[in-house]
Amino acid sequence: MMSEEKFYFQSEAAELLKMMISSVYSNKDIFLRELISNASDALDKRRIECLKDSELAENEKPEIKIAADSEKKTLTVSDNGIGMTRDELIQYLGTIAKSGTKEFLKAAKNQDTQNELIGQFGVGFYSVFMVADKVEVITRKLGTQETYRFESEGDGSYTISESEQRDECGTTVTLHLRENSEEGAKNYSDEWTIRSIIGKYSDFISWPIVFKDTTINSQKAIWQRPDSEITEEEYKDFYKHLTHDWRDPLTHIKINAEGSTNFKGLLFIPSEAPFDLFMNPESGGISLYINRVFIMNDCKDLIAGYMRFVRGVIDSEDLPLNISREILQDEPIIRVIRRSTQRKIFAELKKLLANDREKYIKFWLAFGRVFKEGIMQDSEHAKNILELALFRTTNNDEWTTLAEYESRMKDGQEGIYCLAGRDNLSSLRASPKLEQFTAKGYEVLLLTDPVDEVILAESSFVLPEDMKKLVNIASDSVSAYTEDEKKANDEKLKESESEFEPLKAKALEIFGDKLEAVKPSLNLTSSPACLRDSAGGISLRMENMLRAAGQNPPPQKRVLELNISHPVVKKLLKMAKENDAKTEEVLRVPYDQSLILEGAVPDDAAGFVKRIDDLMTLALGE
Ligand code: ADP
Repeated sequence: MMSEEKFYFQSEAAELLKMMISSVYSNKDIFLRELISNASDALDKRRIECLKDSELAENEKPEIKIAADSEKKTLTVSDNGIGMTRDELIQYLGTIAKSGTKEFLKAAKNQDTQNELIGQFGVGFYSVFMVADKVEVITRKLGTQETYRFESEGDGSYTISESEQRDECGTTVTLHLRENSEEGAKNYSDEWTIRSIIGKYSDFISWPIVFKDTTINSQKAIWQRPDSEITEEEYKDFYKHLTHDWRDPLTHIKINAEGSTNFKGLLFIPSEAPFDLFMNPESGGISLYINRVFIMNDCKDLIAGYMRFVRGVIDSEDLPLNISREILQDEPIIRVIRRSTQRKIFAELKKLLANDREKYIKFWLAFGRVFKEGIMQDSEHAKNILELALFRTTNNDEWTTLAEYESRMKDGQEGIYCLAGRDNLSSLRASPKLEQFTAKGYEVLLLTDPVDEVILAESSFVLPEDMKKLVNIASDSVSAYTEDEKKANDEKLKESESEFEPLKAKALEIFGDKLEAVKPSLNLTSSPACLRDSAGGISLRMENMLRAAGQNPPPQKRVLELNISHPVVKKLLKMAKENDAKTEEVLRVPYDQSLILEGAVPDDAAGFVKRIDDLMTLALGE
């Protein structure tokens, strides 16, 4: 027989373990939920393997057994599921495979958020060390003869040895419970404690959980039960079981589709985004069941990519049990389910928006950015999505919908005024481009998400004709003035045309390769200058984003607007006319300033700083 071999936990796993042991996580009960959940997964996996390979032994009596010994202070959770090989023991229990572990550990260093994060991360097996000072795992993998024993005291190392053969494949986890000195600490070898934890967290597990020769869970699939019978608490506990999220879900959505395709669904919208929502755009969280039998989790074909934040269960009556991931996407029933689920999600979100604005804002803050991707991906529903979108505006600090904005639009306003191009609201609010619109009393939507800009650029192609147009006010071709006002302004500008000519020539001489035009302007009220996008052009931020993504957009030429009623520009007009040698030095300042307001760094940052220094010295005196 193989002798005992000693291993060390992978450093991240060891760190996590240490945290578990020292953790003051208030709800230690969850370790049992995690063990039962692992046992249940193992039984699911064995069933699926047996479906694929008829050589493998069918599970005669699948079950999860619980045993406790209050003398010896042990608690045992045993399953006859798929089991683990020696390598799998090392891979699954000795290391953490989950992506994002590093981020998790970094975040968890902060004591304040630690407790919450441990729960959120669903660290499963390791949570046993909250209550045990030694853990033994005896396991035999389906289709193999060898049985292995894994043992650890949670001290950074573990041992693996060959063990006496288990009669059947599966896994037995034995916890040696810690002596509890803490006041009010629970005794986890106590029968009633065990029963109540299982009753609370694991009642709906679809395999029997047997304790003292009786099955103690109802095994009733919560999504099959009538809504009126289920308490809010049960929904929440089921959600937590499903997602490992420690927080309550924001809302749940029940689906009961009957007709040509019959299926039931129980979906949840989490209250906050998981940290990998953007890093892992493909991750989806719908589990597929067929007639109450678990088939697969993470079934991406059941939900649109931009709804990937939705978690839950879909249970179909019409699909064959042996369906595989590969054929799933071509399955017409799946398409029907997907469409009807999507419709239901839209309808529920609409209801939430109408009935509980506060909750809806939470949803939007967590998932709005993902949801909006749908405008580009799903032209059929682009309008639905936009109607559900929330925006910030120049009016106040509240969120607004497009419909609400439209109800406040001025008569004759050509469309929905939008400004994008910066990542934060305060930068957008400070943009000189807003000046003419604010002066004329128009409300402008402030769009800070990168995806907003894509939507804005493409909106005329993707949005249906019956929707109000989104108008990008960064564009040189958009104005807040009426035709009459424009005419009057143009006349005023014409009068000063000849005066403006030398300054324009100077500006083109200096910045010509970056500019499409230099225009005298009466659009600005307080700023001397402003860089606007040429009609149909893209913002500086967008240009930079495309470059960062490895694309090569042609360099965008912009329009430099100079506010001829501003004292600095007035002075510049004079200097240029007199061919003053300092014209260039002075003109560079407002140009660089308008670049900075676009979020860019002036090409010659050192020169810019020096010019400001010189100006300050001049202004402050010696
Ligand atoms: P998670 O369950 O979130 O993946 P865990 O730490 O609970 O994380 O478990 C790690 C892995 O160990 C599981 O994904 C599974 O592959 C394996 N495992 C744990 N418990 C069992 C079990 N009872 N039977 C078979 N495999 C198991």
